Amino acid sequence: MTRSASPDWHPETLAVRAGYDPAGAANAAKPPIYMSSTFAYASARQAKDIHEAYFDGTGPEVGRPGHIYARLGHPNLDMVEARLAALDGAEGAAVFASGMATHSAIALAYLRPGDSVVFSRPIYGGTNGLYTTLMPAFGITHAEFTDGCDPMDVEAAVATACAAGPLKLIVVESPANPTAAIVDIAMVVAIADAVGERTGLRPVVVVDNTLLGPMMQRPIALGADLCMTSLTKYCGGHSDLLAGGVSGREAVVAPLRLLRTTLGSHLDPYTSWLMLRSMETVHLRVERAMANARVVAEYLRDHPKVAGITYLGFLPTGSAARAVYDRQCRAAGSTFSFAVVGGEAEAFRFLDRLRLLSFAVSLGGSETLITHPATTTHYALDPAERTAGGITDATLRLSVGIEHADDLVADLAQALDAI
Ligand code: PLP
Repeated sequence: MTRSASPDWHPETLAVRAGYDPAGAANAAKPPIYMSSTFAYASARQAKDIHEAYFDGTGPEVGRPGHIYARLGHPNLDMVEARLAALDGAEGAAVFASGMATHSAIALAYLRPGDSVVFSRPIYGGTNGLYTTLMPAFGITHAEFTDGCDPMDVEAAVATACAAGPLKLIVVESPANPTAAIVDIAMVVAIADAVGERTGLRPVVVVDNTLLGPMMQRPIALGADLCMTSLTKYCGGHSDLLAGGVSGREAVVAPLRLLRTTLGSHLDPYTSWLMLRSMETVHLRVERAMANARVVAEYLRDHPKVAGITYLGFLPTGSAARAVYDRQCRAAGSTFSFAVVGGEAEAFRFLDRLRLLSFAVSLGGSETLITHPATTTHYALDPAERTAGGITDATLRLSVGIEHADDLVADLAQALDAI
């Protein structure tokens, strides 16, 4: 009996089943790890056909599981890609060695000298560096918007970008790292469509879905062309590996897979296997982390030494952000920011008193992590970029894990006493 994933299955079932068919691997209930850098051809004819299928997408080997060399693709990578595509509700996916390898491939595949790009702010420090430092060195200009729920703000950035050069890419991070700021994905897609009608050149819309992940937000269903995810975070979920993925229509994803061959940024077999294993429990981990996040957020909101909190569950009814959140997110996630009363000195005193929470960058792991974005994840941004993104010296980002909520609250309470 073959077990190909059914599109009717729920995400929880796809997380466990999609991408692996025991019939293809000696009926092993769980996937073997294919630790091989190269793959033997059955015949000289087949070798030629496999290369034709890989590079031209034609010939008798199309749709068959033939492989050439692990940098071009391997069975464990196929499994992760199929599972990610199923979870994202996309036609295909490409998986890379990290989230930044994924973002870099998107930029290199879809931008050429003279082009322009628009992105939302705040945006992860690495992505910011890609579009404000590396890409400008190749003659690519950028414009940004900060209110992703206001079409006028997005349109102004689009107009600036179009005036500088052909707008090829719109990169949206929503919810954004670290403030959980929301961008209206469907609205950005409509603006991209309008650019396409006006200029004959429709920019590719990329959504970085890292903060919520495939269980809580599906950008492809909202019209995004590419859904990018740092799989290092919730899908990996244990802070013990790095990976990144992007999904979308095959025609938009295939150039990224081909470029990955040149960049050499594929995910290796062992890490792919670990990722497939982690994806099986992503929904359980995320649900528990979100339940904890609500308890922690409610505690922080009411604390006199907390000046503000960006937990999505607290978006005011009637606000534009709340309306977008209700339309596009399934739940509030477990990563958000809060500000302590004071500045860097108070934030540092608080951090140095924590006993249970780990002060470390990254998010989406089973353990609760806290960081000070201004001096860590968003250190490389200039102060004006940080301010525009709502990051102050008092901002702390929390990624709530799956420990017992009472222990988390107790640790936060004793550390807040230090301020
Ligand atoms: N996108 C977001 C929103 C992130 O938070 C990160 C990393 O923290 C990345 C992309 C980059 O992912 P990676 O660390 O897997 O390269």
